[in-house]
Amino acid sequence: MNSSSFPDSLQRSGGAPSAVEVRRSARRRRTVSAYREGDRTVVLIPARMSADEEARWVNVMLDKLAAQESRRMLGDADLAERAAQLSAQYLGGRARPASVRWVTNQNTRWGSCTPAEGSIRLSHRLQGMPEYVVDYVLLHELAHLLVPGHGPAFWQLLEGYPRTERARGFLEGVVAAERLPHLPVTGDGPAAPGSAG
Ligand SMILES: [Zn+2]
Repeated sequence: MNSSSFPDSLQRSGGAPSAVEVRRSARRRRTVSAYREGDRTVVLIPARMSADEEARWVNVMLDKLAAQESRRMLGDADLAERAAQLSAQYLGGRARPASVRWVTNQNTRWGSCTPAEGSIRLSHRLQGMPEYVVDYVLLHELAHLLVPGHGPAFWQLLEGYPRTERARGFLEGVVAAERLPHLPVTGDGPAAPGSAG
């Protein structure tokens, strides 16, 4: 087994560049694996792999690790913190949820809230989606704590968020891809009192 190191040129947003160490193993025939070790990424490859294959597999494994890591669930505490930031940034801090949490029993809505309780629930299906999408759904529910329904006053609250259209497009794409009935985040229709979506 020998080692070589080179910088990770595929710097990802939010992530510091990290070193990649490639380890070749004669025992390893086909499989490639990778893991993080401190601030380095170790990629294990078969000894006989060519330099081109090595470069290709390193990229594949870095993407795979990054995807796994982005899917890692923000905890409920992280969600609450994010909600506070979004409220401060876009709603003048006026939306103050008492609780923000993930739920797994919500498959037809991306988010919901109960203004009387100040509670917000986000579907676990959002986990792994881009941050700007999760932020949009969270901000949408925060805005519902201030304004029920989807009238002009509601959308005015969201005007400051620059990626509303993009996020809605992303979610519509997800729904279309899953061939589910059309259930956009804002398509909750006339919400029942206390359960605006
Ligand atoms: Zn809504």
